[in-house]
Formats: sequence, C-alpha cells, structure tokens
Amino acid sequence: MTIMKSEPLPHTATADTLPVTLADIRNASARINGRVAQTPLIHSGALSDHTGHPFHLKLETRQPIGAFKLRGAMNAILSLDDGERRRGLVTASTGNHGRAVAYAARELGVPAIVCMSALVPANKVEAIRSLGAEVRIIGASQDDAQTEVERLVETHGLTAIPPFDNVDVVAGQGTIGLEILEAIPDLGTVLVPLSGGGLAGGIAVAVKALRPQTRLVGISMERGAAMNASIAAGRPVAVREEQTLADSLGGGVGLSNHVTFTLCSNLLDDVILLSEGEIAEGIRHAWREEGEMVEGAGAVGIAAILAGKVELSGPTVAIVSGGNIDPALHRSITEGADA
Ligand SMILES: *Cc1c(COP(=O)(O)O)cnc(C)c1O
Repeated sequence: MTIMKSEPLPHTATADTLPVTLADIRNASARINGRVAQTPLIHSGALSDHTGHPFHLKLETRQPIGAFKLRGAMNAILSLDDGERRRGLVTASTGNHGRAVAYAARELGVPAIVCMSALVPANKVEAIRSLGAEVRIIGASQDDAQTEVERLVETHGLTAIPPFDNVDVVAGQGTIGLEILEAIPDLGTVLVPLSGGGLAGGIAVAVKALRPQTRLVGISMERGAAMNASIAAGRPVAVREEQTLADSLGGGVGLSNHVTFTLCSNLLDDVILLSEGEIAEGIRHAWREEGEMVEGAGAVGIAAILAGKVELSGPTVAIVSGGNIDPALHRSITEGADA
C-alpha cells in the first residue's frame, strides 16, 4: 500500500487549548436530538472483505437534506438568542450548507435569506427555494453574493451562519463522532472527507477525547485541497479552485480561520489526496456494491480504500457525507465515465 504522507502531522495544542471541546459536542448532541437524523451505520461486506477489517459506512446521505451539514446548522441556529432569531439568518452557500440553513430555519420558524449570483444553475436555486428560504439573486459572482451577506449583517442585523469555521457548527458535526463510538467502542480508524474542516475537526475532537488511539484520516481531492496545503504550510493558505467531482470539497479554509485549522492541524493523523478517477471509482462502488447514491465528496473514504492509499488498523468507519449529486452526472459515472 502507498502512504502519501510519511511524516506525522505537527501536534502542538492540547485538548484544553483547542477551540471546541467534548462538552461542546455533548451539548450539541442534546440540543439537536430529534431535529436531525441519527443516521445508520451500516456494515459493508464488500469493503470488510477488501480490507480485512470490519468496515462500516456512516450514512449522512440519510439526513433530510441529504448531507451532514444539517447537524452544524441546526446546532448553530438553536444556539442563537431570541433577538438574533427574530432578525433572521443569511448565507451565500448554494450547496449543502445553504440547504441545511434553509431547512433548519424553516423547522425552527426563523427567516432565512440565501444570496446567490445570477450564474447559479436553476436547479440549485429551486432546491434552496423549495426548502422555504428567500433567494436573493445578486451580481455575477460568489463574491458579489458574499458582499450582500455582509451588507445584510451590517445594515439589518441578520446573522450569518458560517459553513465550517464556527464553534457551534463544528460541535454539531462532531455529534457524528459520538454516534460512531457508541456503536463501535473499539473504533480503529475513521475516514473523513475534508474541505473547510468542520466535519473532520468536530469528529476528531469527539473521537480523540474518548478514544485517543483511534486514527483520524482526512481525505480531499488532488484538485484544490486547501486544508492539506494549509497544514503543510503551518498556517491557512489559499489554493487555486478547480472543477472536481468532489464539488462539496471545493473552496478555501479562510485566511483568517479561527477554529478548524487549529483542530485539523492538531488532531488529524494523516491527510490523503485523490485523483478524479479514484473519486469516480468510489461513487461507482457505492452504487454497485452498497446500493447508495453518493456524491463525489461523500465517496472519498471508499475511494481512498479502493485506491490502496490508506493504512487501516481495527474496525473502520468511512463517513459518507452526502448524496446530492446531479442525477445525469451520477448516471454517466456509474455507467463508466471518469469525469
Ligand atoms: C461540506 C461538505 C464536506 C466537507 O465538510 P467541511 O466541514 O467543509 O470539511 C464533505 N462532504 C459533503 C457532502 C459536504 O457537503
């Protein structure tokens, strides 16, 4: 097996200096209980045979919005005070975070605006609108949409719910770690899709606090892996954004990152990068062998195993983070195409 990175990641902070604690995650779990799905953890016969270790898939595809981001958004919105809730929420995300904010806001009776540029495809606009959020089309780029978010925060007192770099959001995502350890107390390895690091950071805080010997492996695409580049540089850095099958893993970590860079650089044991062909193989396996429709970002744990890029010890869980993939793209990949 090839291991991409042989040097251990630098670990400098200790549990009591990290920005998110196990207590934050336990509180989040109590807060969101009953409002998000406790997703299934299914045994994969095919991947257990392939790896020689008990192998499980944590199906966040089964959240009401088809991705784990509901956990963090729900916890963040439930943590707001009455005034903040009354003034409402705003975000510029058109992907799974935007869906999560729209869904959670509607469930909680809080108004939400999602700002997006005129270039966002009609199906994404409709997906957000049908969840009950007000869609505001503004400008011709994601930057214009983000500028409108900042304007609404400043002039109307709306609250922006960040997609990852926020203690309450990370604590919400970390509840996945509690659910996994409850089911598999002798957990050996967790494979986590990695972009801004809210998912990996939250799960890492929970798992390392309760079972420090468990290995946490972050997985990104070769094309534009911002957290990997940042960990290597020792500070948040920008990378060029590129098209990838793992579109939910695109975007930077934020140059003034407050939370997730510290968590990921201290708690992840390894980061693995995948080619587009390897990600496509993960999507195909999920469909053909596990019967799951999974988006590129959600398939990277499976893909890393199939590519022989990860060393396992003990019972393993791959976080299948989301299933929101364009059906035509999914069909072309499962029928054999790579991109
Ligand atoms: C957002 C997202 C990720 C990455 O989560 P981060 O917290 O940004 O690292 C992975 N998979 C899916 C499906 C996502 O929507």
